[in-house]
Amino acid sequence: MYKSITCKSALNRLNSNYLPFRWDLNVYRGCAHRCSYCYALYSHEYLQGGDFFRNIYIKENIVEALEKKLRSPYWKREYINLGGVTDSYQPIERSRKIMPEILRLLIRYRTPASISTKSDLILRDLDLFEELSRVAGADIAFSITTMDKEIYPKTEPASTPPPERFAALREIAKTDIRCGVLCMPILPFLTDSPENLEEIFRMTQESGGNYIYAGLLNLRGPTRGHFLHFIKENFPELYPRYCAHYESRAARMPYRKAFYEQLTEIRKQYPLKDKAGQPPLPTGQMELF
Ligand code: SF4
Repeated sequence: MYKSITCKSALNRLNSNYLPFRWDLNVYRGCAHRCSYCYALYSHEYLQGGDFFRNIYIKENIVEALEKKLRSPYWKREYINLGGVTDSYQPIERSRKIMPEILRLLIRYRTPASISTKSDLILRDLDLFEELSRVAGADIAFSITTMDKEIYPKTEPASTPPPERFAALREIAKTDIRCGVLCMPILPFLTDSPENLEEIFRMTQESGGNYIYAGLLNLRGPTRGHFLHFIKENFPELYPRYCAHYESRAARMPYRKAFYEQLTEIRKQYPLKDKAGQPPLPTGQMELF
């Protein structure tokens, strides 16, 4: 179900040292990509929006609301993250075409932006991202955690398959736009094998990606119940192990330590080059590999 709504403000202010940006813009509420581990379920529950994956709300006035913010003399042209709570290039964007309007505004008001997506629909707007990159700064990441054909159709059933995401990354890497991979959330016992991680690093390097941010799955709020139910249904042999693993932070610490040590070793084998002349995102505390 798609429903039109209006927003009071286009931007949400973020106050997290963990993130490298202070502003977030979401054209949509809800996301049809239906990832099993979706961290954003809380946003619908909080707003009593119904099923996050099926009730998609379209902010019809977001372009006007963004222009009002950007033309203010108080706007400092800080980095804006596009789609921290939903994927900006989920299927409805193909016909609604709101993102090109957002990008044209960012170009006009010289405001840099970053985005992560699981859709190659972003290539439709590549010329706009290139212009934004030239006049203000732009950073594009693909969220990719596994190349396993047995796993990703279950964990990410409705987004562009990972091999095609890498193909899209390859196209973007040919431009001056800084681009890379968000390898998160890595799922313990499912996508954490050295073979899988090496493949992600190797493919990122081969595709010309400039960075990988990597991180393990956190289960908070409604995501916890949703994901554990998914595991019970799809990987029942792992269910008891997952319950024990996510019982307490202390229970996970030895695993976490060993995992990040392994990741550091893999990273050394696949060094990545940053984009010449492109300023990186402001520094946050994401786990950079
Ligand atoms: S693409 Fe992102 S917002 Fe959409 S379902 Fe997947 S994790 Fe959630």
